[in-house]
Amino acid sequence: MKACNQCGKCCLKYGGSGYGMASEKDLDVWTLEKPEVLNYIYSEDMPDMWLSPITGDELHRCPWLKKYPNRGQYYCRINEVRPGVCRNYPVNVEQMISDGCEMLEPEDINKSTDTLMSELQNLRRVSNE
Ligand code: SF4
Ligand code: SF4
Repeated sequence: MKACNQCGKCCLKYGGSGYGMASEKDLDVWTLEKPEVLNYIYSEDMPDMWLSPITGDELHRCPWLKKYPNRGQYYCRINEVRPGVCRNYPVNVEQMISDGCEMLEPEDINKSTDTLMSELQNLRRVSNE
């Protein structure tokens, strides 16, 4: 398994409305460090992600996802304060296979689920440091 290569598949699939709610911790972090993010949720009681701050309509694509020019990679404009659901992606190997996550490498097919989960946790720890 290798580190995330920013292919963007996860953000493109799950970044629109209907896939997640912000946690209390997310709200606390945004209040302190990035208050403009709060404009993209319905309310602190119903922290749906993400809504247009102008129309209130559900957004079908994450407003913080940007594509690098001239390359097939994406970046998150709020990476340092991204929601917990993003920070914890991928949840497991089944999800990685289902989503075509590019952290998986061809040789991973011969590894046990326990080994892959251990590698995933190590990579996630490094990326969250
Ligand atoms: S907040 Fe960042 S990590 Fe989460 S879906 Fe949007 S672009 Fe991706
Ligand atoms: S699908 Fe996997 S490799 Fe692609 S951006 Fe998401 S975590 Fe990274």
